[in-house]
Amino acid sequence: MTRIWAEQALLQDGWRKGVLVEIGAGGTIKSLATDRPKPDDAYSTGILLPAPANAHSHAFQRAMAGLTEMRGPDARDSFWTWRQLMYRFLERLTPDHVETIAALVQMEMLEAGYATNVEFHYLHHQPDGMPYDNLAEMAERIGAAAEQTGIGLTLLPVHYQYGGCDQRPLGSGQIRFGNDMNRFENLHAATKEILRNLPADSAIGTAPHSLRAIAAEDFARHMQLRGNGPLHMHLAEQKAEVAEVEAAHGLRPVEWVLRHGAPDERCCFIHCTRMKPDETAGLARSGAVAGLCPITESSLGDGVFDGVRWFENAGSIAIGSDSNIRISLSEELRTLEYSQRLRDHSRAALATPEKSTGRHLLEAMNTGGATAAGRNCGAIAKGMLADLFALDAKSIHLAGRQGDAILDSFIFAGDDRMISDVWSAGRHMVQAGQHVNRGAIVRRYLHTMEEIGGAI
Ligand code: ZN
Repeated sequence: MTRIWAEQALLQDGWRKGVLVEIGAGGTIKSLATDRPKPDDAYSTGILLPAPANAHSHAFQRAMAGLTEMRGPDARDSFWTWRQLMYRFLERLTPDHVETIAALVQMEMLEAGYATNVEFHYLHHQPDGMPYDNLAEMAERIGAAAEQTGIGLTLLPVHYQYGGCDQRPLGSGQIRFGNDMNRFENLHAATKEILRNLPADSAIGTAPHSLRAIAAEDFARHMQLRGNGPLHMHLAEQKAEVAEVEAAHGLRPVEWVLRHGAPDERCCFIHCTRMKPDETAGLARSGAVAGLCPITESSLGDGVFDGVRWFENAGSIAIGSDSNIRISLSEELRTLEYSQRLRDHSRAALATPEKSTGRHLLEAMNTGGATAAGRNCGAIAKGMLADLFALDAKSIHLAGRQGDAILDSFIFAGDDRMISDVWSAGRHMVQAGQHVNRGAIVRRYLHTMEEIGGAI
């Protein structure tokens, strides 16, 4: 049994000192005690916090970070020109490449303080669009990466069938994603089998890619297919996407989901950067989780999520690194809060009367991230998975800091280099700020990058 002692920890009822956590079988927290002196046989840390899930990721995109910042021939670069470059990049990727890139991404997520990778996985087939002999080959590779990195994995196989709301065929850059509903259900079943060989905390959900990429009536089939797991879908990210859905269905995407989708707390809608005020209020009140990706949404010029109105309507949030151009927990939260301040000319926009900005956001993303991941986590509590991260109490950013100011200093003044340790379901994968298999994972990634080359 593992025992961890922390100088301070953020528990469900607030900050406590001298916290002793005992982790039992299956990586769950077996007991929790406070005001204890450090026992000799316990692993000692500074500030112990619940490690959230990274709720939205396309792992392979990590390998093209930094390659899309040039002006193209178009007068104006946009999400849509970026997407063309992304399609050209993924044409080269083999299952081996996908596995090594996913391992690097998961390692970086752990080092950033995330315990779980919720992978929105849509790169399924060979470059010519034919399935591999094993329909779930690519999903198996994401699972293999999780075995190397020790991250908690929630796999979301993605159903991507059409090139637009008019049900046009997939374009040449999209044929590696394509499945009709029947083949998707086979892929989903095969992915479930893969999880049998992974640790018991791994999970599966389902992901209709977007209202552009599936027949709208198939959304209801996905709600059935999810079983007890989560359903994720991209929603209302881009202006042109909202216009296309409205032209096809007579409703804007969020209106469509509220009218026809019966959303609940096990639905996670990604982005939601293009919502009218009544859509924000309505979707928040449905209980659905908003899967926010502030760094990627900044990078792609998606727009600003209305976090103030969302929380006023008791909305839940999760945070993901999406394109993985940067994998940084503190920077995601800082970017989210600053986007609200810049829009509203305000400060502490997402704080509550009881909790500071950093405390409210870290707790909110933990709770919403747990539902979005279909995982028994979200707080340091008896019976929950031991998804934990620790900050170095000796960091200069924490000098003289107590309580919520610890989190605000981490998010607004410091960065992820303050993280000393991370556990995922009790697996102690980050120690002294580094993943325990960092050397081997990075070596394989560098070899992969030599193979695929640096240009798009
Ligand atoms: Zn995405």
